[in-house]
Amino acid sequence: MDNIKELKIFEFKEEIYTCSRCSYCREMVRETDNTHSICPIRENTPGFESFIAKGKMIMLRGVLEKDLRLTPRLAEIFFTCTTCGNCETHCPSGIETVKIFEIFRNDLQDNELGLPVHVALSKHALDNRNPYDEPEDQRFEFLRDVARENFDKFSELGYFVGCTSAYRTSEIARAFTRILVENDVDFTFLSDEYCCGSPLFRTGQISEAEKLALQNINKIKKLGIKKIVFTCPGCQATFENDYARFNPDFKVINYLELLEDLIKNGKIRFSDLTPLKVTYHDPCHSTKRNTLKSNYERPRSILKSIPQIELVEMRSTKFGSICCGAGGGLKSAYPDLAIRIASSRISEALDTEAQVLVTTCPFCKRNLKDAVEKEGLSLKVMDLIELIEDRI
Ligand code: SF4
Ligand code: SF4
Repeated sequence: MDNIKELKIFEFKEEIYTCSRCSYCREMVRETDNTHSICPIRENTPGFESFIAKGKMIMLRGVLEKDLRLTPRLAEIFFTCTTCGNCETHCPSGIETVKIFEIFRNDLQDNELGLPVHVALSKHALDNRNPYDEPEDQRFEFLRDVARENFDKFSELGYFVGCTSAYRTSEIARAFTRILVENDVDFTFLSDEYCCGSPLFRTGQISEAEKLALQNINKIKKLGIKKIVFTCPGCQATFENDYARFNPDFKVINYLELLEDLIKNGKIRFSDLTPLKVTYHDPCHSTKRNTLKSNYERPRSILKSIPQIELVEMRSTKFGSICCGAGGGLKSAYPDLAIRIASSRISEALDTEAQVLVTTCPFCKRNLKDAVEKEGLSLKVMDLIELIEDRI
């Protein structure tokens, strides 16, 4: 304990000590059924208190009082968290739990207690501009036939695709790009787009993440971009929350805002009128981790504006919704647990008897789809943009 580097978590002492141990971050009572866990980790593990925010605050007190040593086991507990923010949303003391977890993860990284799999993500992102270790020159291959003219244009609107859409769920970026092009929207991609840094910020690798952020900010400035649109709420929340320290002078918007305008202006018209029952999964990054509370309403109002779509809600929804299990580095470090969490969400979707589980996040889509495939289910998982493209 004596030779540990100075811990940044000491700066949050006051906030950590405001934890009243009320346990509101453990479970909530829903109107629709019985009590359910707030924390997706607790819900899908033996349920030890150390994994919920209350337990983590108690352990951090132990660290601050030098009763608890930094050990690989302690690191494992703090990295077993999706950083979904559900505990923060329900904490009556207003403790910014996720910020505190991420600062402590940074302390763990500084003391060489980061998980090797997370350190590898950082190396790949710095070497290849993406954490998936995919070739950087193939980042936009899937888009070149759709929008060849939209790379490095001087334009007021930029579209930040993000690594998951570029390499794992390219159908989302393709669908959105097609809609932009078909509606003559003037926009540009950043041909040398870097990972936004989200997986690095979330896993406490802050100085590495800042290097990526500065690359993106400089490129956006160079292209004269005033507004940047996202189809990935993880990237968007990173730009909004983590890039704020650099005072960037561009506005951040979600693709749903553009879609809503195109639908309202009659530019997007629906022709497939087959009845379809859908349910909607709220991504944590566009709700709990984002200041825009309207993000609960906008996707629902778009869904309701599509003819013959019936929207049915899951048991836990909006403010009470649960995480898909992918975030915070959990899917890379503990993939089985990430899938178990996704399976819980899938079982709620199945209970609604919806034919399609719609979301608005490529990372959620991927994890939910992995769970559906693992269980051999016929439930379809789609991003809202794909559903719109299908019904035009
Ligand atoms: S809800 Fe907030 S105050 Fe209550 S135990 Fe959890 S972290 Fe502590
Ligand atoms: S951020 Fe989410 S996963 Fe992490 S402790 Fe809070 S509720 Fe649990």
